[in-house]
Amino acid sequence: MERCPVCRARFKGEAVCYRCGADLNVLLAIEAEAAAWERETIALLAAGDWIAARRAADQTLALQYSPLAAAARDFAGRELVTQEVRRFEQLLH
Ligand SMILES: [Zn+2]
Repeated sequence: MERCPVCRARFKGEAVCYRCGADLNVLLAIEAEAAAWERETIALLAAGDWIAARRAADQTLALQYSPLAAAARDFAGRELVTQEVRRFEQLLH
């Protein structure tokens, strides 16, 4: 979070907005959860577990938009398709 969602004041790392006093704890918790899911996504991608990686990316994106998670989801989706194509080719030959 770069700015307070209530008053748009710059976020200074405090759980309460210095300008309007909004409690930002819930948002910070959501951001932390999204970051954890994003790390999980990357680990699953590295392990080549495309289905789980895509699911983890979806979890990340459900909490917070992340260009990294969006790219990871697309990548995992493409890899899944490639894997399926390969399986069909093996079955057809
Ligand atoms: Zn504020």
